[in-house]
Amino acid sequence: MSEISSPTSNKISILQKSAMSCVKCAKCVPTCTIYSVNRDEITSPRGYLDLVSAYAEGKLSMDLNLKDSIESCFLCTTCVTQCPMSLPVDIVIERARVDIAQKYGIPFYKKILFYMLGKRSVLNFVFSMGYYFNPCIFKTQDGYKKIRFKIPKIGDRVISPLNKKSFLQTYHGLIESQYKKNHSINNTQTSNNKKVGIYIGCLSNYNYLNVGISLLKILDKLGIDAFVPQKQECCGAPAFFSGDIKNTTKLIKKNLNYLLPFLEDLDALLIPEATCSAMLLSDWHHALEIESEVFGIDNKQYFDKLEVLTKKTFMASKWLHDYTNLDEVLKICKKEEVTVTYHDPCHARKVLKIYQEPRKLLKNFTLKEMNESSACCGFGGVTIQSEKYHLAKAIGDKKAQNIAKSGANIVSAECSACRMQIDDSLSRNDVHTKFMHPLELIANNLENKSNIE
Ligand code: SF4
Ligand code: SF4
Repeated sequence: MSEISSPTSNKISILQKSAMSCVKCAKCVPTCTIYSVNRDEITSPRGYLDLVSAYAEGKLSMDLNLKDSIESCFLCTTCVTQCPMSLPVDIVIERARVDIAQKYGIPFYKKILFYMLGKRSVLNFVFSMGYYFNPCIFKTQDGYKKIRFKIPKIGDRVISPLNKKSFLQTYHGLIESQYKKNHSINNTQTSNNKKVGIYIGCLSNYNYLNVGISLLKILDKLGIDAFVPQKQECCGAPAFFSGDIKNTTKLIKKNLNYLLPFLEDLDALLIPEATCSAMLLSDWHHALEIESEVFGIDNKQYFDKLEVLTKKTFMASKWLHDYTNLDEVLKICKKEEVTVTYHDPCHARKVLKIYQEPRKLLKNFTLKEMNESSACCGFGGVTIQSEKYHLAKAIGDKKAQNIAKSGANIVSAECSACRMQIDDSLSRNDVHTKFMHPLELIANNLENKSNIE
């Protein structure tokens, strides 16, 4: 394995480049997620850039205080959207976390998690065991599943649903539109013999199966064939946000080598998850760059493959809105009585600039906007959810209160990480708003349609 290069040994490292450009205007500070809890400049975007700049110049060593500060960032990217120069504070944090992991190692529980995320067969077994031992381990409280006893790093939080079989074990290969087969092709109702791939994401694969099923139902009604590559791997987000660059790039490269041959035959690769979408479309590039910088690895062939992949990769709502007639089809579906408030996942709104499309596709629901719909939900990644859960709770409580104040029946977001965090926050705050993914709402709406058959 190559030795990690010290940040000072590079010509100009990722860390230094951004820090040198910061003009200290403080525009990023008031809306920073972690600053809103800590009220301390050393956990603010401007503070991070100052700290890592000093570290990169060798004036500050990587110690436990610096580690604690850098690991407190939620990677929500709000600062990037506020900064007049769009300084990539998130990439600086991700890069600094690689050095933290190099110096302090990856904690054992994360090593196990990341190992399993890279081994589908093991994860399939673990989740199906969880399903069978469900009643012994979990209790149901106010409609949410919680662990019966306290487990370190997990606490008494809400647990995502467990299933006997994953989405990929159940749905894979070519899934032809039955609607297209059963109806003579009428291009006013179908989307012209399109075929799309589905990259499902781990939470929709193991926990929220109905997300992928809903996407299949929507594609079916539009006359679009689906193809689900069964051996797709985790996008690497949990490892990347924890500084485990080796496991991240291993997953990226496996995915690129596996997915690319299918692309030629597909109109698009759809991802019904904001975090995985942002990983493929943005963070895979950063991760390969960081690996090249830190370990001196030539990733050119993977940058080339990534360029091909990103041209056809879309967050599901974006593609459905921009490239199909779903919007038209929904116009003749019935108006629903339930009201919906939409939470903007950071990776959708701030990274990919997607926020209008899911709202437009929810046209048959009355939307009741919550205050600060684009404020981070407080998920923050594995470290925040385990070692800094108090921070996730502090931010999650604000989100739960804003959801309650909206008065909507349903809260929706195109992200299962947000769903985990929002469900936990709603349960803790005794808010009885139900979470549904926008694709679940749209698929239900299409099934209830009165006059399209
Ligand atoms: S990514 Fe979010 S939490 Fe981190 S510094 Fe920027 S605004 Fe603050
Ligand atoms: S908004 Fe940008 S330039 Fe201004 S202090 Fe924040 S990071 Fe620096």
